[in-house]
Amino acid sequence: MKAHDGMYIDGAWRPAAGTDTIAVVNPADEQVIAHVPAGTIEDVDAAVRAARTAFPAWATTPPEERAARIGALRDVLVARKDEIAETVTAELGSPLKFSQAVHVGAPIAVAGSYADLAASYAFEEKVGNSTVYLEPVGVVGAITPWNYPLHQIVAKVAPALAAGCTVVLKPAEDTPLTAQLFAEAVHEAGVPAGVFNLVTGLGPVAGQALAEHEGVDLVSFTGSTAVGRQIGATAGAAVKRVALELGGKSANVILPSADLAKAVNVGVANVMSNSGQTCSAWTRMLVHDSQYEEAVTLAADAAAKYGERIGPVVNAKQQERVRGYIEKGVSDGARLVAGGPESPQPQGYFVSPTVFADVTPEMAIAQEEIFGPVLSIIRYEDEADALRIANGTVYGLAGAVWAGEESEAVAFARRLDTGQVDINGGRFNPRAPFGGYKQSGVGRELGSHGLSEYLQTKSLQF
Ligand code: NAD
Repeated sequence: MKAHDGMYIDGAWRPAAGTDTIAVVNPADEQVIAHVPAGTIEDVDAAVRAARTAFPAWATTPPEERAARIGALRDVLVARKDEIAETVTAELGSPLKFSQAVHVGAPIAVAGSYADLAASYAFEEKVGNSTVYLEPVGVVGAITPWNYPLHQIVAKVAPALAAGCTVVLKPAEDTPLTAQLFAEAVHEAGVPAGVFNLVTGLGPVAGQALAEHEGVDLVSFTGSTAVGRQIGATAGAAVKRVALELGGKSANVILPSADLAKAVNVGVANVMSNSGQTCSAWTRMLVHDSQYEEAVTLAADAAAKYGERIGPVVNAKQQERVRGYIEKGVSDGARLVAGGPESPQPQGYFVSPTVFADVTPEMAIAQEEIFGPVLSIIRYEDEADALRIANGTVYGLAGAVWAGEESEAVAFARRLDTGQVDINGGRFNPRAPFGGYKQSGVGRELGSHGLSEYLQTKSLQF
């Protein structure tokens, strides 16, 4: 596949400082499809300097003009959507239709929402005898994961640009080609030189250099809790703003009054989607004692249907990790009712859609994020029990509640310690705040809440 052999810095593709490269592998057939440069401290430094130089002019560019550039960026993503979807499929392995609908569709919606918000947001407000100005934080270091390669980038870069910040992006090493296409789109959209910069590279080298750089005012990170904790500590020591979108172990709570078949089928689809590599996936299904066996049968049937339709997981390490969790589930005494640890195909990093019944809340498969197509079905006795189990992990990212009456589901959802809850299968809203309670993170992405992460307040008294 087409790949740039340099970094996008200060409005142009420039040679990398070092000679090391990263191989990009297609997880569906394990073939190397491209190489990209592995960035060093020097590349990160050049990118941060370009972003600093560009900051004063972009910060004072009228919001309507920033909105116009974001709108143009959205239009380029639309015009190049097929190429982007094919690239995501090649480096992540997701089926092409899913790449088109979700991996490209969602970021186009998010970019569109920030083109609107940048134009309409109140960057200034009157509070009594004061005027409060919402001003851009400065240079943003954005560090993104591979699971939704374009969405994770747009969810940071679009609000940052809307706020008047400039950005240096370090994308995940597994999916750098999508990030390079995004940089091309930014360029085509006429975003001024230095406002957006891209450095590809390894997390502990380029990512760490970006997080530690003193020219970065805010680090926005999405990825594992382990790395997030480290980035939070580094930012804390430097008294630097930080936004963390981390892992999850979300509960899908099916109350006895719900439409059981619908709740189970949508719940299984939610977990298997993107081969289980979604931080907000409802990986724990909570079912009342009286409906438990029926739900298990429905879930096993639904998972079996997914066999042919899901793509591989992203790499060999992730495949091993997911299989390890499946083996752990079996050895801990859970009942395997669909899938299992054996790879369904001789080539490619595939994992069978897997469902466990008789999972108890303290088991590893009920507590830890697996990041693969694995569902744990847990039994509850009454509502208080369901609530205790649902809130009984270190995470609090998302979740779902199903009930006959919406008001019953809402009452339960208000007691969940989690940042986002879908009521009776609610649809994705690109303007709704997304982010975690507890160890799922700090801060919010999307919509006006996402935009405010990139702003700081100044008040003038009269
Ligand atoms: P990861 O934390 O290893 O990597 C994420 C990003 O951080 C990558 O760009 C990586 O290169 C970089 N990185 C790694 N080590 C670094 C370091 N020491 N300093 C700076 N940057 C570093 O995560 P992953 O394995 O790529 O992604 C899977 C994890 O991400 C899962 O645990 C998942 O839950 C989480 N995730 C969370 C969200 C969310 O929105 N909450 C979204 C996607 C993924």
